[in-house]
Amino acid sequence: MLTQTLDVAIVGAGPYGLSVAAYAQAEGLDVRVFGRPMKAWNQHMPVGMMLKSEPAASHLADPARAYTLEAYCARHGLEYAYGSPVPVQRFVEYGRWFQDNAARDVTVDAEVTEVGSEGGDFVLTLSTHERVRARVVVLALGFLPFARVPASLAGLPASVLAHSCQVNDLSGYAGQRVAVIGAGQSALETACLLQEAGAQPQVLARCKELRWNTVPVVERGLLSRVLAPESGLGTGWRSWVWAEAPGLVPFLPSSYRRHIVRTTLGPAGSWWLRERLESVDVRLRTKLVHAARRGGGVELTVKSRGHKETIEADAVIAATGYTVDVRRLKVLEPGLRAAVRHASWAPMLTREFESTVPGLFMVGLAAAHTFGPVMRFVHGARYAARTITPALVRSARERGRGGLLPAQVALSGTNDH
Ligand SMILES: Cc1cc2nc3c(=O)[nH]c(=O)nc-3n(C[C@H](O)[C@H](O)[C@H](O)COP(=O)(O)OP(=O)(O)OC[C@H]3O[C@@H](n4cnc5c(N)ncnc54)[C@H](O)[C@@H]3O)c2cc1C
Repeated sequence: MLTQTLDVAIVGAGPYGLSVAAYAQAEGLDVRVFGRPMKAWNQHMPVGMMLKSEPAASHLADPARAYTLEAYCARHGLEYAYGSPVPVQRFVEYGRWFQDNAARDVTVDAEVTEVGSEGGDFVLTLSTHERVRARVVVLALGFLPFARVPASLAGLPASVLAHSCQVNDLSGYAGQRVAVIGAGQSALETACLLQEAGAQPQVLARCKELRWNTVPVVERGLLSRVLAPESGLGTGWRSWVWAEAPGLVPFLPSSYRRHIVRTTLGPAGSWWLRERLESVDVRLRTKLVHAARRGGGVELTVKSRGHKETIEADAVIAATGYTVDVRRLKVLEPGLRAAVRHASWAPMLTREFESTVPGLFMVGLAAAHTFGPVMRFVHGARYAARTITPALVRSARERGRGGLLPAQVALSGTNDH
């Protein structure tokens, strides 16, 4: 057990946790970030994947901007160019380099098994069984707690069903018929990688046609750039506002925020994936109705153009996305979890990322319903780290003095389900 009480404990060492750690440390806070650096990217995304975001939208954030992806590529002689996708392994190595330089002494390579509270402080229990006290906690848990599997698949055992965030090395699927459910980048890229690994993937998608992102135009004239500026979420003024001014989003009505989180950069394949997908079997307008174990594999009942039919597969991968839900924050001890107010199960946060539990902050995907779609992407990490840090300083100081001020929630209303 650490004998001193930390100012700030950050749970999760992905792009958001590491960026917040870099900013908080620069402010002189006694901070630690718990978790294996970049674990989700290294172990919960398929080997061989490429980032969908442009290199310029894929920086982790330190206050001096010294440890950007651009700086990493320059130092290691790697390509860094608009329109040139970043391999996931390079991004993992970049994140570890960032951690080594911007957050080395503050990273603790251990999972947090529970966050509770005791005598006005938070108490974190680690996978090493150590207990750590902290005045302030930042949950930077990313997407893993929120993986969504459709009810029609829920009865299948883990031996034949995986969510896309549970697949990493696809070589184990070689020779198998794999049904991939979904129509977003994750489904389409996983299917391509499966095919390239010697499996027989079949994509099952409800939509009438696949959507594709357009090929980036590298050379653009001044007028074109003024009419449709580039941003971390793509081209155009609307994307620019969501990407570069997320501080405006909390002022929008809750239903509209939910709408933009769902629809901005919705399910679509990257331009560079299109050709690779041509040899993959894709069934559109196909809705999964039921799935059952059959022999060593699976029988899927689907509805396609009004008709029911069955499809046999050896395994199913559900590339069916993520839904933010405070009930999934299992790392919070039940009393704390119940005290997090929510709107349609998404946590309600202040404009400085604090939940309704004083001293408990959340960044990344969990903050998307407050700050909009950029929180689903690495590009939002700088805004989050920059905005949260003054609040962490204030909260750690006030809580150190024993003064607990209730968080002023940006959104009004009570829990609505
Ligand atoms: C397949 C896929 C591809 C994507 N591609 C892109 C892309 O190209 N560009 C982009 O901007 N975004 C992309 N995203 C979204 C991406 O996940 C987020 O942008 C990014 O990971 C957000 O960083 P984060 O730190 O919030 O989350 P994460 O990267 O998920 O990091 C959170 C970390 O917290 C850890 N953690 C969770 N619980 C605990 C615990 N109890 N104790 C300790 N550690 C814990 C996790 O292991 C994880 O490593 C992609 C997502 C997926 C699923």
